[in-house]
Amino acid sequence: MPTPSLIIHGGAGSIPDAEVPDYINGCRLAAQAGWAVLQNGGPALEAVEAAVKVLEDDPTFDAGRGSHLNAAGYVEMDAIIVDGATLDNGAVAAVQRVQNPISLARLVMKRSKHSLLVGAGAEAFARLHGVPDWPEENLITSRELERWQKGQEAGEDYTQADFAHDTVGAVARDANGHLAAATSTGGTAHKLPGRVGDSPLIGSGAYADDESGAASATGWGESLMKIVISKAACDLIANGHPAQAAAEAVIKKLAERVNGLGGIIVVDARGNVGHAFNTPRMARAWVTPDGQIVTEC
Ligand code: ASP
Repeated sequence: MPTPSLIIHGGAGSIPDAEVPDYINGCRLAAQAGWAVLQNGGPALEAVEAAVKVLEDDPTFDAGRGSHLNAAGYVEMDAIIVDGATLDNGAVAAVQRVQNPISLARLVMKRSKHSLLVGAGAEAFARLHGVPDWPEENLITSRELERWQKGQEAGEDYTQADFAHDTVGAVARDANGHLAAATSTGGTAHKLPGRVGDSPLIGSGAYADDESGAASATGWGESLMKIVISKAACDLIANGHPAQAAAEAVIKKLAERVNGLGGIIVVDARGNVGHAFNTPRMARAWVTPDGQIVTEC
């Protein structure tokens, strides 16, 4: 029987030294939540959702509570979940007033005949399926409000160079050998209303296929989607790269081909985990074969 594997991330970027402990702590709690599911024999899909929910509820990260505000001063979130057993996937984009966009993405996968719902349509679908209206003020932190106000005063136009990437994600293999991936984000600070990045796009923000691997990406979405980074990593695994080599190769390509900044976490079908980034830091946690949680940032 395959042993379970799990790796999660809390975003790649220039995380200030003073904030590293919060990132480490948040990643550890998320890994614990996902690992508890896997240890009880639960499916990879449930494990990645559980881990990402913890990160969405933690205001440290740019997902759910703590999301960056867009240029107009409100939160629009994107999320995707992918089932490696069936290649089924569900995603939401530019969605407002939802506590856990990753769970809404899973509902889209399970309860609709579509893969991606956006904006008002996604919110209407949420309400129809009993997902409560989550007040905007529950998603906005004082840190993000200040960031937005400073940006307004300075008339700032954020670029990938000065951008804090705190998107979250998880990939897992369960005891039945099934893989899954999940990614959730508030997107980039000061994005135009309606802007959607790589995160909810299948193959870019996440991908999973039991026959190769599973991946979740973070970074400047406009560059990540150009190389369809998560699918690219899984394709390399299918061609014989171990997880770590695949992660390194796609980050190299991101830099060389499109001058992009970002990071990726990967698990391969044999359960090896990999991670790579070309930003100053990437918060991450994974579980070793003997069940220990390792965190790095
Ligand atoms: N990739 C996300 C986006 O562009 C941002 C991030 O990873 O922090 O929306």
